[in-house]
Amino acid sequence: MIEQKYDLHCHSSYSDGELSPGDVVLRAVEHGVTTLALTDHDTLSGLAEAQQIAKQYELNFIPGIELSCLWNKKTFHILGLNVDANNAELLAGTRQLKNIRYERAKEIANKLEKNKIPGAFQAVQDSAGVGMITRPHFANFLIKQGHVSTMQSAFDRYLGQGKSAFVNTQWVELEDAVQWIKAAGGIAVLAHPMRYKLTASWLRRFLTAFKEMGGLGIEVVTGRSNPDEIRRTIHFAQQYELYGSVGSDFHSPKNQWVELGRLAPLPKNIKPVWDLFTQ
Ligand code: AMP
Ligand code: MN
Ligand code: MN
Ligand code: MN
Repeated sequence: MIEQKYDLHCHSSYSDGELSPGDVVLRAVEHGVTTLALTDHDTLSGLAEAQQIAKQYELNFIPGIELSCLWNKKTFHILGLNVDANNAELLAGTRQLKNIRYERAKEIANKLEKNKIPGAFQAVQDSAGVGMITRPHFANFLIKQGHVSTMQSAFDRYLGQGKSAFVNTQWVELEDAVQWIKAAGGIAVLAHPMRYKLTASWLRRFLTAFKEMGGLGIEVVTGRSNPDEIRRTIHFAQQYELYGSVGSDFHSPKNQWVELGRLAPLPKNIKPVWDLFTQ
C-alpha cells in the first residue's frame, strides 16, 4: 500500500493564496499528498475546480473552508472539513463574510488614505477579483507601491493589530460558524491553536465552549509548528477529547518555509480527524 500523506489546510487564489485551486491540487500531487483539503478563508468558490482536477490525479479531495469568527471579541479561525459545498446555510454564511470583508477593505483603505497612501481599495478589488479580499492583498499593494519591502513589514507597520491601518473586524460569531459547518455535514476544527497568543486558561475556556457548540477537532500539526507547540497541543487534544488534524496552511510557493504535504506526522496517541471522513 502506498504511504498516505494528509494535508488538510491550504489556500488558493480565491482567498489569499497565490495559486489557482487546480494548481494547488497539482502541487499537492507533486509533493506526494494523497488526501488534500482546500480551506480558503470564508469561501467555497474554489472547491469545484479543485475537485475536478483532483479526480484526474486520483487525489482524495476533501472540500473545506476556514471561517473567520469571534468568540469573546477575539478572532479565531475554524476549519470546516468535508463540508457540502452546496449547503444553503453555509453558502449564506460565506455571503455574509464576503460583505464583512468588503466593508472592512473600504475601512482599511480609508485608513491608508489618511496615511497618504491612496488607491488601495481599487487595487485590492482588482487583485482579489471574484475571491475574498484579505489583508495579504493590502500587503501586496503596499509592497508594489514601495511602502514596504516584505509581507511581514506590511503587517508590522500598517495591517497588524493596533497598527495604523488595522480594523477591528466584526466577524461572525463562533457559534454561528460551527453551526453552519455542522449544517453542511462538516467537521469543525480549531485551526492553528498556538497562533492566537492565548494563555492556557483562555484556551481551555475556548475549547470548553467550542466542544459544547459541537466542535470536534484541533489542528495538532501545522506547517510551522515546533515540537513544543505540538506537545502542548497534544495535551489539549487529549484533555478535551478532540480529533487531531494536520495542515500546512500553504499559501504560496514563494514561502520557502511552508510546503504542501511537508508536515510532522500526527502523533500516534491522537485520534486522526480523517477517521470521521468515512462516517
Ligand atoms: P485576514 O483574514 O484578511 O485578516 O488576513 C489574515 C491572513 O493574513 C492570514 O490568514 C495569513 O495568511 C496572513 N497573515 C497574518 N499575519 C501575517 C503576518 N504577520 N505576515 C504575513 N502574513 C500574515
Ligand atoms: Mn491566510
Ligand atoms: Mn488561519
Ligand atoms: Mn489558513
